Amino acid sequence: MSTPELLRFDQLLRTQLYIDGRWCNSEGAGRLSIVNPSTEETLAEVEAGGAPDVDRAVRAAARALRSWKNTTGASRAVCLRAIARGVEARGEYLATLQSLNNGKPLAEARVDIGDVVATFDYYAELAEQLDETGESEVAIPSADHRAVIRREPAGVAALIVPWNFPMVTTAWKLAPALAAGCTVVLKPSEVTPLPELALAAIVAEAGVPPGVFNVVTGTGAEVGAPLTAHPLVAKVSFTGSTGVGEQVMKTAAETIKGVSLELGGKSSIIVFGDADLDLAVDLVASGAFYNAGQMCSATSRVLVEQSMADALIERLADRATQTVVGDPFAPGVQMGPLTNRAQYERVQRFIAQGKADGARLVIGGEVPSGPGYFVKPTMFVDVPADSAVWREEIFGPVLCVRSFDTEEDAIDAANDTEFGLVATVVTRDAVRGKRVADALAAGVVWINAPQLIFPQTSWGGYRHSSIGRELGPFGLAAFQEIKQVLTAIKPD
Ligand code: NDP
Repeated sequence: MSTPELLRFDQLLRTQLYIDGRWCNSEGAGRLSIVNPSTEETLAEVEAGGAPDVDRAVRAAARALRSWKNTTGASRAVCLRAIARGVEARGEYLATLQSLNNGKPLAEARVDIGDVVATFDYYAELAEQLDETGESEVAIPSADHRAVIRREPAGVAALIVPWNFPMVTTAWKLAPALAAGCTVVLKPSEVTPLPELALAAIVAEAGVPPGVFNVVTGTGAEVGAPLTAHPLVAKVSFTGSTGVGEQVMKTAAETIKGVSLELGGKSSIIVFGDADLDLAVDLVASGAFYNAGQMCSATSRVLVEQSMADALIERLADRATQTVVGDPFAPGVQMGPLTNRAQYERVQRFIAQGKADGARLVIGGEVPSGPGYFVKPTMFVDVPADSAVWREEIFGPVLCVRSFDTEEDAIDAANDTEFGLVATVVTRDAVRGKRVADALAAGVVWINAPQLIFPQTSWGGYRHSSIGRELGPFGLAAFQEIKQVLTAIKPD
């Protein structure tokens, strides 16, 4: 099926704003061209929203909040499960749309769909539990008073997401926000709005009342900034770069909004000399090249014990050479293009910088000719610890390797970053694995495990990587206010 046929084949493809339960045009005249990163062809044009659209959407969300916040958790769970079933039923279409718009191989896009479904189902459960646990009495040292703690929805929530995992980053915010009883305005990335617009069509079918869920597509400057500044928005949940996150926090501070930030990373995988080499190669390759390395959680820094270094580098070079890069729909393709031109050019600048800084390029570095934002898996070794490729988030398929002598050196090197999102430890020694995990300043540590993320757990990091946590009960709490009600008890 050709791209235009595929896009026509389902009515889920929407290109308008979704405000107050209706598809509508922006009040401005602009449209955004959405590009297929594999071909550089235009896939669709979507409405470019602006401040007046943001205002309409936020006001609709504020009106809808009056009744939505008083619904039972059980009734919100019905909507969340309906969304999960809607995503499941259209899973193949949504995965296809993601691969078209984001460039990830279809197999990876399918993994994202499974994650989205699991997230909505999980928060449906938590919404139901809120009917029991949303209000609880607290023991206090006074017989004359009764203290109750209530969990209430934070209010209108602004959800701002990036382009690398468009549906997953949206689900991680939208599901807990709706479960908590918040109403929302979602701003997708200007690069990848198509999956979220399709998700909006599913939400619309799922019985979510008008105004509870709104989508305003457009740029960060025209939509994200006024959304963050809007006085009726109580909570901003943002996933994106550290620089923009800082800007969001500053803007939100002017109206004292609650802020959750999921930002960048520069994470390490530590491979000890006793590690299973096959496992280490798998974990390093997937941690660096999955989603073409466009992962906040990319473990793009490899710290390998001296005794294992030569063997690991040789095997990784083989793996990188064999990685099939190409059209995300072609059979056997393991890595698609980068998602947009700006990122493509940024990654090339980093590769040039790595060479200039004296890192030894072992594999990759070249950019295939022809259309599409393709970059081959790339590996630098003997990377200077002060070079940009070692210190800054590249967000592309570029692996940097350094060796270490002692466990302490490895921990110090892994922690020597302004970020602290994730880390992986590969060792056969379980005691050491636990000890190193304890010493790492990171929000998630995998020991001998791939980057599996379950909605029941937690997501987020230390330092400049995050403020707050997503997923698990923490993700729900991020969209709640706490109210204490203390009642004087009259003596009989
Ligand atoms: P950006 O920070 O550029 O953009 C993220 C979102 O913010 C986009 O929707 C963007 O709009 C919007 N935005 C831009 N400017 C503003 C503004 N002034 N006010 C409000 N919103 C604004 O990130 P990318 O989209 O480039 O995504 C890549 C980054 O995301 C990486 O650094 C990565 O590490 C991080 N990330 C973190 C994750 C985590 O869980 N920690 C997960 C996924 C990604 P526009 O579309 O116009 O740019």
